[in-house]
Amino acid sequence: MYHKFDVVIVGAGGAGLMAAMQLPNASVAVLTKVYPTRSHTGAAQGGVAAALGNQEEDHWKWHMYDTVKGGDYLVDQPAAEILARDAIDAIYELEHRGLPFNRTADGRIDQRRFGGHTRNFGEGPVRRACYAADRTGHMLLQTMYQSAVKNQVRFFNEFLVLDLLMSEGRACGVVAMEIRTGEIHTFHAKAILFATGGYGRAWRVTSNAFACMGDGMSLAYRRGIPLQDMEMYQFHPTGLYKVGVLLSEAARGEGGKLLNGKGEYFMERYMPTLKDLAPRDIVSRCIIQEIKDGNGVDGKDYVYLDVRHLGAQTIAEKLPDITDFARNYLGVEPITEPVPIQPTAHYAMGGIPTDTDARVVIDGNWTPLIGFYAAGEVASVSVHGANRLGTNSLVDLIVFGRRAGKDIARFIAQSDHAPLPDKPDSTARELVERMLSSNGGESAAHVRNELQGEMLDNVFVERTERGLRHALDTIDGLQESYKRVQLQDKSKLFNTELVETLELGFLLDCAEATIHGALVRQESRGAHFRLDYPKRDDVNWLKHTLVYKGEKAHDVRLDYKDVILIDDPVFKPKERKY
Ligand SMILES: Cc1cc2nc3c(=O)[nH]c(=O)nc-3n(C[C@H](O)[C@H](O)[C@H](O)COP(=O)(O)OP(=O)(O)OC[C@H]3O[C@@H](n4cnc5c(N)ncnc54)[C@H](O)[C@@H]3O)c2cc1C
Repeated sequence: MYHKFDVVIVGAGGAGLMAAMQLPNASVAVLTKVYPTRSHTGAAQGGVAAALGNQEEDHWKWHMYDTVKGGDYLVDQPAAEILARDAIDAIYELEHRGLPFNRTADGRIDQRRFGGHTRNFGEGPVRRACYAADRTGHMLLQTMYQSAVKNQVRFFNEFLVLDLLMSEGRACGVVAMEIRTGEIHTFHAKAILFATGGYGRAWRVTSNAFACMGDGMSLAYRRGIPLQDMEMYQFHPTGLYKVGVLLSEAARGEGGKLLNGKGEYFMERYMPTLKDLAPRDIVSRCIIQEIKDGNGVDGKDYVYLDVRHLGAQTIAEKLPDITDFARNYLGVEPITEPVPIQPTAHYAMGGIPTDTDARVVIDGNWTPLIGFYAAGEVASVSVHGANRLGTNSLVDLIVFGRRAGKDIARFIAQSDHAPLPDKPDSTARELVERMLSSNGGESAAHVRNELQGEMLDNVFVERTERGLRHALDTIDGLQESYKRVQLQDKSKLFNTELVETLELGFLLDCAEATIHGALVRQESRGAHFRLDYPKRDDVNWLKHTLVYKGEKAHDVRLDYKDVILIDDPVFKPKERKY
């Protein structure tokens, strides 16, 4: 079936919906593989950063400083400035749309502490995170979805996008499979925005929803667009032991502390100023160090998150959801018992490279691909550099989702639809047909399991050349196995096995790009920690990596892009001390 719109937005999370909001006069289709309010944005717990200064003095420049420093200087600084400045307006826009934030006694938006957010260029923690209990993302997504429905945005729910279309050097549409019927649809548009989120499911222990399979990154990658800084993947320090489900940093923002097997609050030893609220990459590494030193609980590979001293009332009022997670998944009562935790795969700092108007750029010279945009976790602007601060993703969604929408509005007013290529749906059709007719005997579950185990073993908090080479060989083999995957369900109607197998292909692409980035980057920076190169190396590595897809896992092409710094001594790269 053929559809024609001015704009196609793929993804109904925070980034996609924020962009849709900016296009009241255009015909806009939002395509989403899950029901909109099931997008992973709804799982965000702790908050959204903006220097409102409602609780104590704060400035956007302090927020920018924390973002740049937190990202270990791999941040494009003009983008970080936009993030910190625009955050304030974007939050008020959401407030006016009805987002039920927690309030101060005098009725303003309440703010809490979060890791790495400081006052006066690193002096001590500041209250910058606006929040709605520990379900900020849920409230944000519901508010935006209601606004979108009110504004007559056309939703195509449970449509799985399988291809990005290009002609005459421009993006001109997408091809999607309607999950309910298996029917293939072609969407023709002047502008396409990918807002498809992250790929945390590449690791066995992850905080990410089942839908976070890296679809958008992979689809762009398959069409010759590079992926940027994929080695920069964040592991959140506090996932529930073995399950990976997130216990928000809000727990530590409210005063929760990490406890080792010896009963020590060990972060005081590593980070005397910020203690448990140091940036996530640092806290994750401290946990791994404690475990290596034999200080895990009962000598095992986990430590505790302790919120007992906060008292039952604060826990019930400020942290209701996450304490329920501990009860339901581990049978632990956080009011009286410490909760077993370990680092969990959480967030992609890398992704499809864009400029600050969310336009996708395809090389080290910032050449744009006309008509193609990306925003949210799928994109790399790059405001998070080598490590994202807590609460800086939701703000990224609303700031750059908004900028994407505004630039798209400008662009579609000036341009026509580029023609579709011949047989536009052929690649997607072949992909589906091949999968349905394969009788190679391989199981998708097996391939997925191997992938997730390998990533956890060798592409986690600590990395080495040896481990990464092993991971690359494994991926190479898994890509071969993937070609032989045989489905048990060959029907077209609501074939979830088919959907999951197609998604697994996306995940393999993202894993491949991640490993290549990690292998070439012979330094340690932010979330990327190489045991064999433990120091940051600004002389050789203050640059973004770009990975271009090749035929096989081993033969990708690599390129590099300068990090944009501004001329202000405050933001000059220096050692990241806290
Ligand atoms: C448990 C958890 C807690 C978090 N807490 C916070 C927090 O407190 N503060 C903060 O700042 N950040 C937090 N984050 C990070 C933040 O929530 C995410 O980075 C962010 O929500 C991603 O939003 P997004 O709009 O980019 O994509 P998502 O919300 O993931 O949405 C992706 C959309 O793309 C669609 N899609 C994907 N692939 C396809 C396809 N092939 N075809 C069609 N549609 C497709 C999906 O259906 C979905 O609608 C948290 C993350 C997790 C996992």
